[in-house]
Amino acid sequence: MKVMEKAPAKINLSLDVLYKREDGFHEVEMVMTMVDLADRLEMQELSRDTIIISSQAGYIPLDEKNLAFQAARLIKDRYHVRKGVYIHLDKKIPVAAGLAGGSSDAAAALRGLNRLWNLNIPLEELKALGAELGSDVPFCIQGGTALATGRGEKLTPITSPPQCWVVLAKPPLNVSTADVYGRLKASEIRRHPDTKSVIEAIGTQDFNRLCGSLGNVLEDVTLQLYPEVRQLKECMQRMGAEGVLMSGSGPTVFGLVAKETKAEKLYNGLRGFCKDVYAVRLLT
Ligand code: ATP
Repeated sequence: MKVMEKAPAKINLSLDVLYKREDGFHEVEMVMTMVDLADRLEMQELSRDTIIISSQAGYIPLDEKNLAFQAARLIKDRYHVRKGVYIHLDKKIPVAAGLAGGSSDAAAALRGLNRLWNLNIPLEELKALGAELGSDVPFCIQGGTALATGRGEKLTPITSPPQCWVVLAKPPLNVSTADVYGRLKASEIRRHPDTKSVIEAIGTQDFNRLCGSLGNVLEDVTLQLYPEVRQLKECMQRMGAEGVLMSGSGPTVFGLVAKETKAEKLYNGLRGFCKDVYAVRLLT
């Protein structure tokens, strides 16, 4: 038996941090959606009780540090599965980029293994399991577009944003999400993103308002640490992107454009600055 799952990248259209909680997590308010840039997971049942991960990407862990491995171990332990699995990860999403690649792989592994082993775990239960692996995993299981609150695991689905092109560029930097959150002083944030306006713009399918309302409070930290991310944002704005924002904790910056010709121009222009550039559609 073999199953395949797609693991798409997520972007934040809004990322706000309300305060730091007593349990150490940050209380957030985020609008997240998915783009058509995805890893692919192939899962094959093994009669031996073991988990094996392989990938063509030389730069990710293939042992118990891999989030797909952790997902497989969690589901096996919790549902007493004695069979094993071989997971091949075809990595397309850049790593440590702010695009939730690892979380999406974990989500795809949970979805796929639920099918492979006929466990019939309901979606809500699968999402709760995902929350044990990471705050973004429940959203990656659910997909679509959502307002995420709590530490990111409480999801309210919303309609898809107006369809557009998303041009993503990742500068050659490794940004640790934990480090960025660690440096953020939640009580000293001067300007919070207008999440309500992002949601209203999506509700009315107002592309220009959406572009004008994008906001990410983590830019305050990452742009100061890495001036090249600020330069990349400015560069995208100059090249005509209608809305520009850093995704997650960075360093990936994305630009929204309505027209394909503009997306091509932006893509070609950015290739001079960055190796990792993608022009994709929203997954609606
Ligand atoms: P987020 O936006 O959720 O913070 P990210 O896109 O910034 O995530 P990831 O690509 O998920 O970052 O990688 C973060 C770390 O997780 C890396 O250090 C990487 O080695 C590790 N990792 C574990 N499993 C995976 C996986 N399946 N794919 C990519 N990275 C993984």
